[in-house]
Amino acid sequence: MNNERTEISSLGEFGLIEHLTKNIELQNVSSILGVGDDAAIIDHFGKQTVISTDLLVEGVHFDLAYTPMKHLGYKSVIANISDIYAMNATPTQLTLALGFSNRFSLEALDEFYDGVYAACEKYGVDLVGGDTTSSQKGFIVSVTAIGEVSPDKYVKRSGAQKGDLLCVSGYLGGAYLGLLFLEREKKIFMESPGVQPNLEDESQVIGKLLKPEARKDIVDFFGRENLLPTSMIDVSDGLSSEILHICKQSNLGCVLYEEKIPMSEEMKRAAFKFEIDPTVCALSGGEDYELLFTIPQSEYDKLVLNEEISVIGYMTAPEEGANIITKGGGKHVITAQGWNHLNQ
Ligand code: ADP
Ligand code: MG
Repeated sequence: MNNERTEISSLGEFGLIEHLTKNIELQNVSSILGVGDDAAIIDHFGKQTVISTDLLVEGVHFDLAYTPMKHLGYKSVIANISDIYAMNATPTQLTLALGFSNRFSLEALDEFYDGVYAACEKYGVDLVGGDTTSSQKGFIVSVTAIGEVSPDKYVKRSGAQKGDLLCVSGYLGGAYLGLLFLEREKKIFMESPGVQPNLEDESQVIGKLLKPEARKDIVDFFGRENLLPTSMIDVSDGLSSEILHICKQSNLGCVLYEEKIPMSEEMKRAAFKFEIDPTVCALSGGEDYELLFTIPQSEYDKLVLNEEISVIGYMTAPEEGANIITKGGGKHVITAQGWNHLNQ
């Protein structure tokens, strides 16, 4: 931990931008011109360009009481490039706009950018621009991710077909439990500041919240195995909400099997500590950044080669609606109770 505090006003806006971006080495041939001019230039050489933007606001999307700046930087990038992977595309560039009050020092911004650059390096993405402004209160980040895809390879939410398998990567519900633990510890700390948090047992779910990863490996696997999902979405608001997006936009129903939903042992243990049903966490918790997709049944043999993919159900005619079959054999309509920042 660095205890120095350098006021950002001592650098000025241009000095700050220069400081934050001086070590950028462009990694992609498509990044023709990066930081330093009125705009960046990108050439995707005949591929199509995919763009996605997110806005993250302190107190709404993140709490700096338990989110280290470095993790926030990393996660801001991951959340955005996850949307690019959800199109079956490859992220190549980012722009990042920041607003911050004088509560934030240069050291805090450096930590934030350490996280940003760590994610950029890991996923082979270039930071090619941004904007910098002061805010009266709090920290605001907007990330725009740009990617590329062959014209015949992008995957929308609306292409699912009746009979397709419904699949998801990784494990679900972990990030939500990480959030519950950190919120609980924050409350304890506010009431008695001397108490040290005991979160060691929960490192997996807390890691899932504070240092999520995007599923580049799944998109790479599709490419290698010549698989093309019929529809895809990333799980940022909870499984049930994302399934309903696919059903609605593809004009289909689905059957989801509770027993097939992938849940880690750590997540289940954590859910029991809070006396909540792990399935509810998987269905309604947000920020897992896994990929949910549909694919023809004929691809099943290729899919099972990847242990990171679970088949959790299949698509049906729209009249049948979107249903979950519980472990007890009951059938219930899936409702969207996903994490919604507008309803906090
Ligand atoms: P303009 O006046 O045209 O908005 P700026 O002075 O804001 O230009 O930006 C100068 C250059 O620095 C541009 O290339 C811009 O994309 C980049 N830039 C500005 N802020 C950031 C930031 N926070 N992170 C990365 N690049 C930035
Ligand atoms: Mg500007």
